[in-house]
Amino acid sequence: MHYTGTIWRPPYEASSLLLEATAGCTHHRCKFCTLYSDLPFPFRMSPLADIESDLQEAQLWWTDPVAMLTARLQGLPRPAGVRRAFLIGANPFVLPYRRLMDIAGLIGQYFPSIQTIGCFARVTDIALKSDGELASLGRAGYDGLTIGIETGDSEALRFMDKGYTAADIVEQCRRLDEAGIHYSFFYLAGISGAGRGEAGARATAAVCNQLHPALIGVNMLTVYPDAELYQEIQRGNWTEESETEKYREIRALLDGLDIPVRFAALGASNAFQLQGTLPEDRAALAAAIDQIVDTAGEDGLRAYRVNLRRL
Ligand code: SF4
Repeated sequence: MHYTGTIWRPPYEASSLLLEATAGCTHHRCKFCTLYSDLPFPFRMSPLADIESDLQEAQLWWTDPVAMLTARLQGLPRPAGVRRAFLIGANPFVLPYRRLMDIAGLIGQYFPSIQTIGCFARVTDIALKSDGELASLGRAGYDGLTIGIETGDSEALRFMDKGYTAADIVEQCRRLDEAGIHYSFFYLAGISGAGRGEAGARATAAVCNQLHPALIGVNMLTVYPDAELYQEIQRGNWTEESETEKYREIRALLDGLDIPVRFAALGASNAFQLQGTLPEDRAALAAAIDQIVDTAGEDGLRAYRVNLRRL
């Protein structure tokens, strides 16, 4: 399989067939981000021939008796029928409509069992597609996109150079709603900076409440020395939230959401994992957050952050 650098995928895509459609990110400017810094280029589109050869290799793994026996001897799990593909890269949805349709065609050719295709998408990637193209991509299987909106706090989006505003999130995700393409959000606790966490969370809840995300996944800001944000902190232009402020921020987001949605904090940036469904699990999740703050405290939570070598 063609895999370049670290593979980043949402926790819920663990059983999807991971296909490298792109590597890196077309934006590459978010001040906090170091995710694709191990690549020797900012962004690359995979040749269709590489994607097809990966599909052929994967097909062999799923059907070839020798490959299955080898896997069994190695103690690997027996491959189950694959139902979903996940395109790798920070934002494969940026690919031109025609390329995305060609990829869907290849996936259908080699894996007729695959029903849906997911990937990370930037808000700006959606804006590049017409309404008709979005509807057609939905019919071709694109569904369950993961969008790292990070926040609905426009001031934080501007400072971090995310490349879109809170209004853009609402406008573009409504277009996904109309096209019948489902999506989940990643939220980045800590992005608003010291003293602004809860206000940023309330602004984010106001954005999400106008939309229909299937899941809001919380990640927690971890600033590494190779991030532009680290330099901003050194220059005195930005101050990090304490760890307990980040948890108060997550609590404010939870309190502010009035849509039915899955709520989860599962990635490595979270010292404690949380998940539930709103509104029914709101009280239990809030109690869990309060307990984390009370028992781990700032020092314990900070120790986790400082010792987190990588995400
Ligand atoms: S869009 Fe995502 S991957 Fe690209 S720089 Fe921003 S946070 Fe990093």
